[in-house]
Amino acid sequence: MAGHRAPSPTGALPDAVKNRAVSRPVTDVKGLIGHGLAAAGAAAELAAVARDFQIRITPAMLAAIGAAGDPVTRQFVPSTEELVAGADALPDPIGDGAHQPAPGLTHRYPDRVILHVTRTCDVYCRFCFRREVVGESGPLPEADLAAALAYIRATPAIREVILTGGDPLTLSSRRLAALCGRIGAIGHVEVIRIHSRGPVVAPERIDAALIAALKAVPVVYLVVHANHANELTAAARAALARLADAGVPLLAQTVLLRGVNDSAGVLADLFRALVRLRVTPYYLHHCDLARGTSHFRTTIAEGQQIMAELRGRLSGLCLPTYVLDIPGGFGKVPVLPGYVTDTGKGNYVLRDHQGRVHPYRDPVR
Ligand code: SF4
Repeated sequence: MAGHRAPSPTGALPDAVKNRAVSRPVTDVKGLIGHGLAAAGAAAELAAVARDFQIRITPAMLAAIGAAGDPVTRQFVPSTEELVAGADALPDPIGDGAHQPAPGLTHRYPDRVILHVTRTCDVYCRFCFRREVVGESGPLPEADLAAALAYIRATPAIREVILTGGDPLTLSSRRLAALCGRIGAIGHVEVIRIHSRGPVVAPERIDAALIAALKAVPVVYLVVHANHANELTAAARAALARLADAGVPLLAQTVLLRGVNDSAGVLADLFRALVRLRVTPYYLHHCDLARGTSHFRTTIAEGQQIMAELRGRLSGLCLPTYVLDIPGGFGKVPVLPGYVTDTGKGNYVLRDHQGRVHPYRDPVR
């Protein structure tokens, strides 16, 4: 097909790609090739990837894609590296299914639940930890939703309901408002937290109707998923400003990804940009053990080294907690570098951000 040129060996994409004016998402290998995002010769292998893992890249992210192999391309354009299963890969890396009192509901910690309201996303990220289950199957069926809400209603210890998916902001504003209203009507639920890629990858979605839906219940936190400052396009920045101006509390979660953001400099730029946009970095996730994602995974030691460097150069406001979901559903734990060594009898050695060590002693009672 005309214009189906592969990225050059230097990593530069053809001018046709750089100049693309796109109004529709790319959802298949043919579209990738048509936009110059994959070589025609790779079609068969990429089709094998697409058989297992959906492709979807929104116009906003197509516009943010720069050169081949750049941090945005790498997150959304499939690669034959995804065909490498990896001996440690798990179908359900964080064990959502291990704590499932109702279909679509995960109850891992006493005071909060995760409600998987849809399996649909605006984009399909190549590193996704739920890649075995996300797809185009749409919202949670009403019967399952009703059972999940009944469980929440019957469990007074639950104070927080986390909406995830898929991406909850792919639901219509009407459906989202109705859902938040139903959850908000449960007396012991104090907070709804929504995790979404939407403000970044589909910023046009953040319109007045959606903001009204988020404001319909007292406390809705929005946790925005962003991995590189290049994703924060002018449209994404404007969407985040609309949310912040409307008073929606904004947090961010980031996945540590090899070849995307595995350096202190890249993450410092991202976290500073988020804070300027009134979004507080919340979690830096270690990449989970999903099938076909081992090429994205750093070591924990690499992540800790990055966090140590960030601590030396960033305000605490810009610093997320580096966490790992223990494979198998045992929960999230911080995996920050150690700053405190207990040497016994109330004595400690503290390590500062420059690696110098200092003694410290507990009060003697
Ligand atoms: S938006 Fe979230 S759930 Fe959807 S593919 Fe990306 S990481 Fe996975």
